[in-house]
Amino acid sequence: MTKNTLKKYRRKRDFKNTEEPEDGNGKGKTIFVIQKHDASTLHYDFRLSIDGALASWAVPKGLSTKAGEKQLAVRTEDHPMDYADFEGVIPEDQYGGGTVMVWDRGEYKPIAENKDHDKTMADALEDGALKFTLEGEKLKGGYALVRMDRKSKQEQWLIFKLDDEHVDARRNPVSTEPDSVLTNRSLKEIAEEEDEKDNA
Ligand code: MN
Repeated sequence: MTKNTLKKYRRKRDFKNTEEPEDGNGKGKTIFVIQKHDASTLHYDFRLSIDGALASWAVPKGLSTKAGEKQLAVRTEDHPMDYADFEGVIPEDQYGGGTVMVWDRGEYKPIAENKDHDKTMADALEDGALKFTLEGEKLKGGYALVRMDRKSKQEQWLIFKLDDEHVDARRNPVSTEPDSVLTNRSLKEIAEEEDEKDNA
């Protein structure tokens, strides 16, 4: 991962006013998380741990379980490892204000291409082509992330399911499994419970 990886993340936030983590370094763990984020527009934040931080993409439509169905993934700033456990409400006056749910999470394993066996995930991120196997509760099996354009301010990538035994063209977990894998709550329940907490 590039140096000063969390600088941008911290600059965008006032940690006195949001419960999001400021730091957290889980070096060595290879985890992924997908956070459903009801901000100005609903989207899914896909995050992969690479070299002790969470490389992140905003995926407007969420990930598909259909082989080869490409979804736009816009690269966003790296997040601290502890962010993978964050579920709650970001205040409206803060960056990314809105409700955040842990929609799926688990470990992941890089898929090594034979000829590039020594290539790390950080190298693959830099090269704009990542392949990995997700071991989540909702999403399993191989996925690829490919960079389309790095010239614009926000890199445009595509994420899609690789063809394997976990492909299922009919499952559509984004609509059939909408709730948190952490607490089973819906976005509405998270928002309401956080609101009660604040007023207690
Ligand atoms: Mn987001």
